[in-house]
Amino acid sequence: MKLVYSDHYDLNLGTHVFPSQKYRLVKEKLLRERMAEPGDFIEPSLASDDDIALVHHREYLRKLQTGKLSYLEALRLEIPYSPELVRAVWLCTGGSILAGRFALEDRVAVNVGGGFHHAYPDHGEGFCVLNDFAVAIRHLQKDKTIDRAMTVDCDVHQGNGTAAIFGGDHTVFTLSIHQENNYPYPKPPSSLDINLRDGVGDEEYLKELTQGLDRALAEFSPGLIFYVAGADPYRDDQLGGLKLSFEGLEKRDRLVFEKARAKNIPVAVVLAGGYARRLDDTIQIHTNTVRVAKEFAK
Ligand SMILES: [Zn+2]
Repeated sequence: MKLVYSDHYDLNLGTHVFPSQKYRLVKEKLLRERMAEPGDFIEPSLASDDDIALVHHREYLRKLQTGKLSYLEALRLEIPYSPELVRAVWLCTGGSILAGRFALEDRVAVNVGGGFHHAYPDHGEGFCVLNDFAVAIRHLQKDKTIDRAMTVDCDVHQGNGTAAIFGGDHTVFTLSIHQENNYPYPKPPSSLDINLRDGVGDEEYLKELTQGLDRALAEFSPGLIFYVAGADPYRDDQLGGLKLSFEGLEKRDRLVFEKARAKNIPVAVVLAGGYARRLDDTIQIHTNTVRVAKEFAK
């Protein structure tokens, strides 16, 4: 299974609740525990501005590239602006395009990064600058590789940017399962939003996700699923209020791949959030997702 990754995915945040060194740590753990070999990792190139402009406004891209975000625009990102950040998100968007292509060839592929679902066409917020997988979907649609796509967003936070980007577009079905009483506010409607109460644990989460996936896949058949595999529904997450265990999160991953496999739909994985009190826990959850993904690759 191909793993898309670059050392330049690090968002250069210094000490921050978003541990952007996690991408490198996931890669190192996968190698150390023999879940991947060095040759499995494919280096992406920067997404083109034309690709990114399939989703984002040119004016916003220009501001990012020239360091001209307003004070409020920069503040809303909730991460420090830097040229390295800009390079990282362009690269990671290229990575999600590549992961989408590999998934179509091999059934499953992983971008060891991305999942920036809070980014809107005209602004970034909540640690998300560019909506990498929305760009990937638009790119693959434009070159007629796929007609229809689905996003299955299991990050603890609702996928507001994705919902806004694809709202009213009948070629993309957006499913988000998240903690209702948490950022973002407001939550523009996804095709299917599963709003969970605070403190929901493994059993109820898996039941709700099963029902949601069954419903979504009964009414919509995509050529590709982007699975937004956030690690933050974990019970010891600092920015989440759900109570999933390692085992529950692994069952969640397996459920998504099984439902997709049953309909012969390729899955591209992006990592999204993860803010566990212990960084090792976040790395473990992401690594588990990659291990489960690999079981479903050809
Ligand atoms: Zn999140």
